[in-house]
Amino acid sequence: MSSALPNSVYARDVEYILHPVTNARKHEEVGPIVIDRGEGIYVYDDRGNKYIEGMAGLWSVAVGFGEKRIADAAYRQLQKLPYYHTFSHKTNAPSVDLAERLVKMTPASVNRVFFTNSGSEANDTVVKLIWYYNNARGKPQKKRFLARTNAYHGITMVSGSLTGLPVNHRDFDLPIIPVTHLTCPHYWRNGLPQETEAQFTDRLIQELEDTIAKEGADTIAAFIGEPVMGAGGVMVPPEGYWPRVQEICRKNDILLIADEVITGFGRVGTTFACEHFGIEPDVLVTSKQIASSYAPLAAVIMSDAIYQVIADNTAKIGTLGHGFTTTGHPVSCAIANENLAIIEERGLIENARVSGAVLQEELAKFRDHPLVGEVRGIGLIAVVELVADKANKTRFDPVGKAGAILFAKGHEHGVIVRAMGDQIAFCPPLIITTDEVREMVRRFGAALEDTYAALKADGVI
Ligand code: PMP
Repeated sequence: MSSALPNSVYARDVEYILHPVTNARKHEEVGPIVIDRGEGIYVYDDRGNKYIEGMAGLWSVAVGFGEKRIADAAYRQLQKLPYYHTFSHKTNAPSVDLAERLVKMTPASVNRVFFTNSGSEANDTVVKLIWYYNNARGKPQKKRFLARTNAYHGITMVSGSLTGLPVNHRDFDLPIIPVTHLTCPHYWRNGLPQETEAQFTDRLIQELEDTIAKEGADTIAAFIGEPVMGAGGVMVPPEGYWPRVQEICRKNDILLIADEVITGFGRVGTTFACEHFGIEPDVLVTSKQIASSYAPLAAVIMSDAIYQVIADNTAKIGTLGHGFTTTGHPVSCAIANENLAIIEERGLIENARVSGAVLQEELAKFRDHPLVGEVRGIGLIAVVELVADKANKTRFDPVGKAGAILFAKGHEHGVIVRAMGDQIAFCPPLIITTDEVREMVRRFGAALEDTYAALKADGVI
């Protein structure tokens, strides 16, 4: 344990908390790192160590840590109206301002907002509203969701079912809804030998068409996808993939849902990744950078066609039987409004393009490193994937062995990255400058060298 003091925060953490996405037994041994404060792209632990937050927390703190304008906006709202609900015709100005702002920012195909607290709740809401929509329009068989392997759509029972990562299903008895996970559009890992990227894309599109033919379009409600996959490993799909998926969905009356929980609000260099890939979804899901995670908040933005069917049905049965105590929370919405104003005023989406280009360029320099299988990314999001054998793309055994070492070495060098298995992710705050990107990558490079030396010393490679 990190401290012998029985009343220390370290000891009490180990005694009282079950941590999310953590090996609980290992945590009992090593104890926590207590993150105490943050400023700009940096966070500090309670022992005075300073880290570049190379992941913006969990892909989310767009404007950086310690942004006073947001703290002030939250304080003002807390004094005026700290809470109110939005059930039964009640509303509050911050939630209306935010909804209008979102409709103006998002693609023209979506224009009606439903607020939740988290991305998982947002995706549960998507499934519920689409089932409701299909029941209301006399298509009760149309319930299946199409998702992809390696997708991450959340962790609750239904959003976790859409997620396509085995560790999130295993021992939880998921999935619990009808969902088909199609092949993840990652050419480097999933392309066949001798298959070009264009042929790989053709194969994925064929798989989609075959699945629709097999299941029947009248049983499939929607296709959900992250335009660029995040937690599954930052997979940027091949050229042409998304417009073709959209075309097939439209032809078959299958709704297209863009999960932009990570990519929304500038991460890939456009306001939403849908713009970059040329698609107009029927539903767009946002969270994280919407409020820089200064408060829990997510938003589902749907097409008018979906809204109209839902609205008619509520008129028939008396109410919409869905909503949370904190849907449209005034403080969360005030925080989001200030956060989005900062993103706009400071040109942070443009900065994501400029600093993002440097991030991709700097990371590309590791392509020849013996531990590195692939470097991939777009804008200010990237992954360096470590492999045991570069020529054959062989994974470490167990998967995550090298990633865990690099993650720890990163801390020693003052950079926080995320190890998803052996995929090392970068997703820094959108405020990061080009010089800070270079410094972050330099620290990562030092951690990579240490990792290489440690694996060699262990006889792993
Ligand atoms: N969708 C995507 C694309 C995500 O990356 C995440 C979170 N990493 C979620 C949904 C779930 O969000 P939350 O953790 O807020 O429930």
